[in-house]
Amino acid sequence: MDINDILTHLGEDRDLYFQSVAPPVIQTSNFVFSGIEDMRHKILDENHYHVYTRGNNPTVNILRKKIAALEKTEDALVTGSGASAVAGAVMSFVEQGDHIICVQKPYSWTYTLISQYLSKFGVAYDFVDGSNISDIKNVIRPNTKILYLESPNSLTFEIQDLRACAELAKKNNIITIIDNSHCSPLYQNPAVFGIDLVVHSATKYLNGHSDVVAGVICGSKNHIEHIFKTSYMTLGLIISPHDASMIIRGLRTLPLRLKQSNDTALYIATKLEGHPKIQKVIHPLLPSFPQYTLASSQMTGAGGLTTIVLKTDAKQDVYSFVNALQHFLMAVSWGGYESLIIPSIVFHDMPGKPDSPIPWTYIRFYFGLEEADFLLNDILQALDKM
Ligand SMILES: *Cc1c(COP(=O)(O)O)cnc(C)c1O
Repeated sequence: MDINDILTHLGEDRDLYFQSVAPPVIQTSNFVFSGIEDMRHKILDENHYHVYTRGNNPTVNILRKKIAALEKTEDALVTGSGASAVAGAVMSFVEQGDHIICVQKPYSWTYTLISQYLSKFGVAYDFVDGSNISDIKNVIRPNTKILYLESPNSLTFEIQDLRACAELAKKNNIITIIDNSHCSPLYQNPAVFGIDLVVHSATKYLNGHSDVVAGVICGSKNHIEHIFKTSYMTLGLIISPHDASMIIRGLRTLPLRLKQSNDTALYIATKLEGHPKIQKVIHPLLPSFPQYTLASSQMTGAGGLTTIVLKTDAKQDVYSFVNALQHFLMAVSWGGYESLIIPSIVFHDMPGKPDSPIPWTYIRFYFGLEEADFLLNDILQALDKM
């Protein structure tokens, strides 16, 4: 289906709600049955009938249809956070004695889920580099159930060969899951390469206005039905109808927002490369990126994230640079309208914690919807103050 139809019309049956243009928020916890037969029938299939909003809600269903179409999968679930989408997808497919292979630098709470939380329940794991398919092949065990990918990751942007990963996993009966938040469904559709399940933090580009926390899981009808009947209902992964309607609204402008962020990031990354006070600019679609060829073969864009590495031996220089920036907010997350920075130095010299493996010269930028030169000039004047 054409993207314009997906974002503007798909799933919106206006006959059901007085021909209103914007879909209503069906803010209800439960639904009425016409009699005993009706109730019995619907309770047997809560994924497809309106019974209770923890399972199925008309506003949330509109969003499920749009998300599945965007990711080119048969079905999708929407959850209350990206972290719950990750946990729900993973936990639906492992049991005691199983083994997970995960790329080495996933989102922080994904790392905690696999290394600390699931290990309590007897699920073993290996974290691997993943930039070479043999890294993954070498650690496959007979009990490996899940290959978990994040391509690119959201700080240093390492990627995996999605076609090769899907093929290797299929041969070994392993379910593949990818966190596709970085590319959004517009710039990469992992299901097309054979990846089984695609998760996103919808908090980022899909909602795009820094006012909702949410997640999505996309996959085949069978996989989604299985997740619905296991993790989704038991762990209560539900999103509220109101938050779902906010994301439907956010999706209306997804292509416009993403293009602006994407073009700005690539423009600024290109301009900053070679600056005397910058050691390295990291962006997966810069020709200097070590995996540029692979990135270009599976991504059609990269969104608004870029990491720059300052050329300095003095921590004070990082403070001077960051403090001189006028138009970037220092905040976690990304994918909204506003430009942001996370200086890696925050995760150094933390009381009672080991220093982050990411050097303190690294600064991650998210470029939002402001004009590119407005943001570039701000960075250039801050570099002058270093
Ligand atoms: C933010 C993020 C998550 C977690 O999503 P929440 O919506 O914050 O729970 C997972 N993966 C990636 C890559 C993220 O950036």
